[in-house]
Amino acid sequence: MFDRICRSLKNRRGFTLVELMVVVAIIGILVGIAVPLFNKSTSSAEKKACHANQRIIEGAAMQYYAEKNTWPSDVEALVNEGYLQEEPKCPLSKSGYTINDKGKVTGVKPPGSGGTQCNHGYYANDGGQFPGSGSSSP
Ligand SMILES: [Zn+2]
Repeated sequence: MFDRICRSLKNRRGFTLVELMVVVAIIGILVGIAVPLFNKSTSSAEKKACHANQRIIEGAAMQYYAEKNTWPSDVEALVNEGYLQEEPKCPLSKSGYTINDKGKVTGVKPPGSGGTQCNHGYYANDGGQFPGSGSSSP
């Protein structure tokens, strides 16, 4: 094969149509394998980041409760009091989280600009329903 390629380069005749079609087909197969794997790993990473955000918010809320003996009203209160540097946002929906009066994450706010609905679920429930979901305010 290599000799043939070298010979065809010396001959300056170029590649035959069949040879080019084989190369294009091989590239197509490789792209067909790589793209779904890349998409899968991206969505898996987004889900893990979303769950890590929820864990961080609940940790900060517990810290808030330990120091002030009252639960934070919302995630903004955690930011304002210095328990979080900035409001964590779901990488898919690009919007912040809501918490209940016991410091548990109850859901994700409606999608921000350029985001779609978060479908990552609650971290402690392996991506299942949020605690008290169904009553979460839109
Ligand atoms: Zn999410």
